[in-house]
Amino acid sequence: MERLSGIGVSPGVVVGRAVILTQRTEVMRFPIPPDRVERETQALQRARDESRQQLQDIRARLAQGRGNELAALFDAQILMLDDPMLVGRADEIIRTERVNAAWAVHRAYEEVYQLFAAMEDPYLRERENDVADVAGRLRMNLRHGARGPRELLSQIDGPSILIADELTASVAAQLDWSRVQAFATDAGSRTYHTAILARSLKVPAIVGLHDASLRIAAGTPVVLDGTTGELVVAPTAEMIDAAHRRATRPRRRGVPAADAMPVSTTDGLRVRLEANVELLEDLEYLNEHGAEGVGLYRSEFMLSGRPLESVTEDEQYALYRSLIERVAPRPVTIRTFDLDERQVGLNVTRPERRRTRPGLRGLRLGLANPDLLRTQLRALVRASEHGPLRVMFPFVTAVEEVRQARGLLAEAVSEFSRIDPGQLKVGVMIEVPAAALVADLLAPEVDFFTIGTNDLIQYCLAVDRTDDRVSDLYEPLHPAVLRLIRLVRRAAARHHIPVSLCGEMASDPALVGLLVGLGLTEFSMTPAAIPIVRQVILELSATEARRLAGHVLRLPTAAEIEQYLFDALAASAFQRSPLS
Ligand code: PEP
Ligand code: MG
Repeated sequence: MERLSGIGVSPGVVVGRAVILTQRTEVMRFPIPPDRVERETQALQRARDESRQQLQDIRARLAQGRGNELAALFDAQILMLDDPMLVGRADEIIRTERVNAAWAVHRAYEEVYQLFAAMEDPYLRERENDVADVAGRLRMNLRHGARGPRELLSQIDGPSILIADELTASVAAQLDWSRVQAFATDAGSRTYHTAILARSLKVPAIVGLHDASLRIAAGTPVVLDGTTGELVVAPTAEMIDAAHRRATRPRRRGVPAADAMPVSTTDGLRVRLEANVELLEDLEYLNEHGAEGVGLYRSEFMLSGRPLESVTEDEQYALYRSLIERVAPRPVTIRTFDLDERQVGLNVTRPERRRTRPGLRGLRLGLANPDLLRTQLRALVRASEHGPLRVMFPFVTAVEEVRQARGLLAEAVSEFSRIDPGQLKVGVMIEVPAAALVADLLAPEVDFFTIGTNDLIQYCLAVDRTDDRVSDLYEPLHPAVLRLIRLVRRAAARHHIPVSLCGEMASDPALVGLLVGLGLTEFSMTPAAIPIVRQVILELSATEARRLAGHVLRLPTAAEIEQYLFDALAASAFQRSPLS
């Protein structure tokens, strides 16, 4: 038995088993019952087979286009898949420690990493990057087999308590809070954000536990007291009994069924919730979670490891058509490829890697390679015959770019006489501060705006999220970010075009009330986040939210804004009290 002490930020006592989430590695660690061991090891073998196939495909394509020397780099990775120290060791970890496959791969990778780090030979030390890539690929393929934390957690018996190094809103929004009954985090910074989150979700929580996520083994029973801030690890039977007697949980409404759409605030403001989609497989979750359409299809994901030039118009058409038909009569927003130049002609297994580089990216890249953009636009125009389609251009910075892009689109439309140009809506992502600042000039050029806060925040604040030294400065509640959002919302309103928000902010239960207060009524997010955001909206008063936003916009710092939101929630000024 061990007592850990942190800061209680959301009241209630809960008894459950620990599930560990380490954001640093984006891997969740949880115990599996004995009868799931075989399934987990089989999933690992399947992920290995898929990874091998992908690597062989990449190797073959590179050998064709760029010669054997570059292709040979992938031989090392293919060999690593058969190295007993990686997959073999992960298999052993699953069996002996009874943990999930993704965590076992991560553990095996860390062991290999230690060995490489100790090596003198610079060539061998460099191979460490290859091991990281192979382990990352295995985990990616394991993820494709099991859909995100919500589904993973559904396989755990009984109530669980999440112990995380840090709980980001995007993960929080995807968890199944009927299974995760409380959470505790190591991080003490960002206290307010996490606290606001806990109160919005109405779950007991402790923050500031320093290294609990490293010290507690997955599956260990724990007692969490969100009022005193105490976490008891491996409590005695008497302590568990006593905790059960004290156990209180804020009363939460069940997550409303998907057919509860359309959703409105308590005072009748209609809010539209759509889904961000990367893979066609994600579409099955659309109905389950009650999305009203696809607000963002990130088309670059269709490339999954293939050079851009190799994807034909017909192939794109077939995919877009299938997407549109499966979602119809609800609308689909397809964003043209958001890639940067390093990814053209190279593999794009991880489009997220490019996120921080400005330069030749998104629409700029398309306009610099008009043949590639034309091919995509032709495929989109053809597909628009099959249902409501909105075409969206990413990384727009100026009116000229939009005019050029629309010119190319008009050319494509004129090639297909059957297409009614009026049924194809054209919009832009507002994700670079320049676009937000000229939103009033862009609005007359397009049919809709979509605010991409992921990029907007980092370019507005000049923060590279992947750089540890400044990533803490990435702050959605910075007054500059909120002002940009207000500016875009106002420009859209003045020109009578719809505006939605599709960055991670949209799925942050702690922020969505403020966004409604800023006048936004359309959001697009990862499908799994829709139920919890719907619940927050159903309990929200738009009038109070507007009042709150009005005050927030006058505050000078993000910290004061967070404090104000926290106090407002605690006083249930704009949302029902967690204990009501
Ligand atoms: C964004 O920038 O907020 C966005 C949704 O686009 P992506 O995350 O694909 O860059
Ligand atoms: Mg973006």
